[in-house]
Amino acid sequence: KLYNQVQDLKGSIRVYCRVRPFLPGQSNCASSVDHIEDGSITISIPSKNGRGRKSFNFNKVFGSSATQGEVFSDTQPLIRSVLDGYNVCIFAYGQTGSGKTYTMTGPKNLTEQSQGVNYRALGDLFLIAEQRKDTIHYDVSVQMIEIYNEQVRDLLVSDDASLVRVNSTCDVIDLMNLGQKNRSVGATALNDRSSRSHSCLTVHVQGRDLASGAILRGCMHLVDLAGSERVNKSEVTGDRLKEAQHINKSLSALGDVISALAQKNAHVPYRNSKLTQLLQDSLGGQAKTLMFVHISPEPEAVGETISTLKFAERVS
Ligand code: ADP
Ligand code: MG
Repeated sequence: KLYNQVQDLKGSIRVYCRVRPFLPGQSNCASSVDHIEDGSITISIPSKNGRGRKSFNFNKVFGSSATQGEVFSDTQPLIRSVLDGYNVCIFAYGQTGSGKTYTMTGPKNLTEQSQGVNYRALGDLFLIAEQRKDTIHYDVSVQMIEIYNEQVRDLLVSDDASLVRVNSTCDVIDLMNLGQKNRSVGATALNDRSSRSHSCLTVHVQGRDLASGAILRGCMHLVDLAGSERVNKSEVTGDRLKEAQHINKSLSALGDVISALAQKNAHVPYRNSKLTQLLQDSLGGQAKTLMFVHISPEPEAVGETISTLKFAERVS
């Protein structure tokens, strides 16, 4: 118990793996997921002499039938931490199409049941703030940015004041829709920029203790990362290659930072990418990090699946 409390104080890194189901209309081919057991997932890898298998261990593995509610229930304690004054980062990692946006936001035709982590986290945040209103007064503001080719763009406002005060989940939903609209400006159908940029919704919380006047601050970053797939250098050139190199560099930098923190290294290389620079205060120290790694079930994706799981294992 005491050990847990100490762990808790020092912050933590957790890694959850989530498998996307086959999509409607997809021919029902065999999944590359052989089996899932507690925190372990075993992938079957086709090879010349039959099939090989490889297992990976995480804090939790969600199979393809896990609901949005189930996935969020293991995230919920982090929301309370934010209101207690901790900084929290929640990342979605994986190749394009593996379900990152589904986990963080939800599907295109959103229903209450299919709402992702962002909506549920904010719902909980306002609920807990309300429950505490006789002892603590909370101010909540949000910020939404995109990082594309190592350049940061504000998705909510174009002037200096990039923090927007919010009073309810509805306020935040309106802002998220605005941010999403701004994000797609300039993106053509062929050039789906959203999969090649990181998007980050940050929620800042300031609490004032009504009795003592003491102030506490916490923040939560909800990050939908760019697709982690490797591109074939012989097939892409120009802008597409540049994008791929930027993504590659920033995802490796993120991996390096989290793995340095997980190993309790003295030196943590925050300076190597915009993303890790921006999140520096919320990675390490007393901050709490949760990484959702997503994999696609198709056998054709098995190469990316293995590289995703290797990345994830390195940071856990
Ligand atoms: P990414 O953001 O990683 O590119 P998406 O979240 O857009 O991937 O998911 C790709 C497609 O799969 C979308 O149509 C999405 O609605 C669907 N999808 C992803 N995860 C799930 C899931 N757990 N259950 C049902 N559909 C899913
Ligand atoms: Mg996406």
